[in-house]
Amino acid sequence: MTTTYGHNKESRPVDKRNARFLDKVSGFLYTAEISGTDFTPKSCIGGFTKLTGYPVSSFMKDNFYGDVIVDPQDAKPLHKFRNSSKASTVPRNFTYHIISRSGRKLSVTEQVLSIKKSGPIKLIGGVVTLSEKQSQSPLNGMLEKEKLRFQEMEKLNKHLLEVNQLKDEFLANTSHELRTPLNSIIGFLTLITEGYYEGDEELRLFTRNALDSSYHLLDVINDLLDISKIESGRMQLQIEKVYVDEIMEEIYSLFKVQADQKNLTLECVTLESPLFAAADVRKLKQILINLVGNAIKFTDKGGIVVSVEAAGPYLRFSVKDTGIGIPREKQDKLFQKFMQVDGTATRKYGGSGLGLVISKHLVEMMGGEIVMESKGTGLGTTVSFTIPKWTKEDT
Ligand code: ADP
Repeated sequence: MTTTYGHNKESRPVDKRNARFLDKVSGFLYTAEISGTDFTPKSCIGGFTKLTGYPVSSFMKDNFYGDVIVDPQDAKPLHKFRNSSKASTVPRNFTYHIISRSGRKLSVTEQVLSIKKSGPIKLIGGVVTLSEKQSQSPLNGMLEKEKLRFQEMEKLNKHLLEVNQLKDEFLANTSHELRTPLNSIIGFLTLITEGYYEGDEELRLFTRNALDSSYHLLDVINDLLDISKIESGRMQLQIEKVYVDEIMEEIYSLFKVQADQKNLTLECVTLESPLFAAADVRKLKQILINLVGNAIKFTDKGGIVVSVEAAGPYLRFSVKDTGIGIPREKQDKLFQKFMQVDGTATRKYGGSGLGLVISKHLVEMMGGEIVMESKGTGLGTTVSFTIPKWTKEDT
């Protein structure tokens, strides 16, 4: 606690209770005389140095506070406020800015009581504290430049926290998605090697299950590698002239058996022919495999129509099914990693929750857009995406 009695000036000690109060706030208490344009400090107590960065002795120099510390824009109004005090035993407040020694602009509130017997006005209990709002925000008191840097750092920090959280979620989900098929492989192979099966049919069933899980595991691993490649910008595309009819035929023969097994119809229609896309042929197939695979997976009755048509400078591919549909509020979210309408561990349909994310990335990398539409649960789903047409300039 610093109590300074001015340089040979008449001074009066400040009430100790005020001093204790000032210990708790960022501010100081002063007494002074004011006459015309002159401000003559008499005493200064509390955290003047803490607030302004200047030694208390500088406050005791006539007019130093008003001339040097108070923001030049506020100096006149402050002087007017103090001068107009006359005699007021009711405390009055005035908010203005000071520039601290390190160059920080701070908003402070000064509360004064004044006495005027004769001669100069005597200000007592001039309490200067950081304005309330400001002391709550870390931004207050910073220079514009510092504020911007602080805000940038805060944004970056928030972003890093989010990324970290996503990474944690990603790892938790990933390990679950990898462990599930692996546990199944180990489980069935254990049953087989321990001889826990009756007859060839059961042996085949166990082996089949282990094999299915291996393929599933391979799919998940490939999806994860793809995502990681895409997100780190390492996924390279080889854009070439792709004859769309050929792709449609391939998709048909790839999925016909699966569709038949579920008693679903499958049609692959090229609405105009010939159509050529400017695409990476493997990636284009990968997208269609994801979408048609989903359509068959999530459809139990009816069928799937895969179609392609010209749409301006693009080709529009659509995969339409009569399946379980998607509630409207979930439609946007499905293009996020691991998002599934039914995300519970007991869900009916398998899958990694990565197919749509990868498809979206691949479509966008090739210069197109992907959208998902469903009128709601039970009402089927259509996923459409565009891919640029092959033009002469691409040759
Ligand atoms: P996965 O199918 O491996 O779970 P996807 O990213 O391909 O992952 O799909 C995410 C989710 O979107 C699916 O789990 C499902 O809930 C929903 N979905 C995708 N396609 C369809 C569809 N044709 N019909 C109904 N739901 C779908």
